[in-house]
Amino acid sequence: MQDMLQAILDQVRPLLSQGQVAQYIPALAEVDPHQLGIAICSLDGQLHCAGDARTPFSIQSISKVFSLVQAISHSGEEIWTRLGYEPSGQAFNSLVQLEVEKGRPRNPFINAGALVICDINQSRYATPALSMRDFVRHLCGNPRIVSDAVVAESEYQHRARNAAMAYLMQAFGNFHNEVDAVLRSYFHHCALSMSCVDVARGFAFLANSGYCPHSGAQILSPRQAQQVNAIMATSGLYDEAGNFAYRVGLPGKSGVGGGIVAVVPGRYSICVWSPALNASGNSLAGMRVLELLSERITGSVFSAVP
Ligand code: GLU
Repeated sequence: MQDMLQAILDQVRPLLSQGQVAQYIPALAEVDPHQLGIAICSLDGQLHCAGDARTPFSIQSISKVFSLVQAISHSGEEIWTRLGYEPSGQAFNSLVQLEVEKGRPRNPFINAGALVICDINQSRYATPALSMRDFVRHLCGNPRIVSDAVVAESEYQHRARNAAMAYLMQAFGNFHNEVDAVLRSYFHHCALSMSCVDVARGFAFLANSGYCPHSGAQILSPRQAQQVNAIMATSGLYDEAGNFAYRVGLPGKSGVGGGIVAVVPGRYSICVWSPALNASGNSLAGMRVLELLSERITGSVFSAVP
């Protein structure tokens, strides 16, 4: 496995100079684009790594899965009165659909949907940012995970579009807490700084019917874990979810920090990271690494198990 991972990274490395690091969050625009790492956590407890697998990066929208899992774990099906689980086919930060659909976001993985989920969590926890951080530490078995205050502040300073979505939803009666407070929590989640190893470990429960192998905790029921994987498969890669299903064929979630997490139910959780993005905001090299990985090692959920 190790040699195969190294060979895949070597093959993909020429792509590193082709993408663009996220520019709209100034703190992320400074990240060196020539980094590439992968970690695979198998359910028998083995960890396989290559490249910059232990370098922390900004998980950004990957945090939307953690927020969703928190909300499902305390509110269950009730959350779907506030948002849907259909793909949006729009950019992750689009306002257009939100206006047309009367403030009800299509799914929890576009920004509007993630903000509603944060609003639900804000009503539930006294200190939502700390609750999230501690939840993630628990899932990954790493008590040193922190949120990068510089990135969170940089996002807050450039919050206009996310604030616009939240106020629009408030106008439609679908936002219950103070917008600014929810935005602060949301940016703290996005700014969590984690390595590929952390993220792969943190998603192992979704490959394992909701049961976290490191902590021994049942995080979600098997049915709920399957549902989260389904939403990742249909909406996890912004408006490129179809391309990801076609090329990789796994439930996945990307972030503009260049991370992509993927789940092979019953077998592995995977995180690949490379900061330079394609036009849809997904890691250019990361997509290719996962494509090669699914061809050579993991298979796709749309094919027979290799
Ligand atoms: N914090 C970013 C934003 O709100 C997250 C974007 C992303 O990773 O998709 O715009």
